[in-house]
Amino acid sequence: MFAKNKSPLCNKCHEAVSDFVLCRECENRYHHACAGITENAYRRMGQEKRANWKCTSCRNPTPENPALADLLNEIKCFLKRFLHNEKRLQLF
Ligand SMILES: [Zn+2]
Ligand SMILES: [Zn+2]
Repeated sequence: MFAKNKSPLCNKCHEAVSDFVLCRECENRYHHACAGITENAYRRMGQEKRANWKCTSCRNPTPENPALADLLNEIKCFLKRFLHNEKRLQLF
């Protein structure tokens, strides 16, 4: 009798969840609201799409920090430009 009948918990708000969205990647359960999707939209996705659904943290490793993601992008662009210029300089 070890917590066998306990309802699963939502991985985001840690409340019991009976009608959940299941992440394919981490296999965690979420309330529709916690997953950022409406119940209707989830139902309309169809079985195949639902089976492939991923939670926000699995879809995007840094969802909590969009500013950091922007910064990373800027650095990447800068490096690309820098390497591009470097190549051109070596031609001379
Ligand atoms: Zn929740
Ligand atoms: Zn996940």
